[in-house]
Amino acid sequence: MKSIFTRIIEREIPSDIVYEQDNIIVIKDIAPKAKTHLLIIPKKEIPSINEIQKEDSDLIAELFFVAKKMAYDLNIQQGYQLKFHVWALWGQEVMHLHLHLLSNI
Ligand code: AMP
Repeated sequence: MKSIFTRIIEREIPSDIVYEQDNIIVIKDIAPKAKTHLLIIPKKEIPSINEIQKEDSDLIAELFFVAKKMAYDLNIQQGYQLKFHVWALWGQEVMHLHLHLLSNI
């Protein structure tokens, strides 16, 4: 079964998409926990950090470069948080890897 984020990527369900490139999409979190709350999502459906493979190295690095780009584009580069939830006991709800970018600037 496709993840909810794959369904967003494939435009099956609507979302507020703020940036997209060949292998990554960035959307606004539907239930923001800060003034800015973005989700930086690889299009490849990797469940979580627990399942990343060496072959994903460039993609994982790219998530952080996209995070930096978003921070500068939104002019919040002076202060923000990046985080992954990993599996259910630390609150991961959507089993499709995503990097949270939060800021209150
Ligand atoms: P996590 O707890 O790390 O799995 O975070 C999943 C995040 O996805 C939560 O912050 C949700 O608010 C968010 N979320 C769930 N469904 C959607 C959706 N359809 N569009 C945007 N964000 C969503």
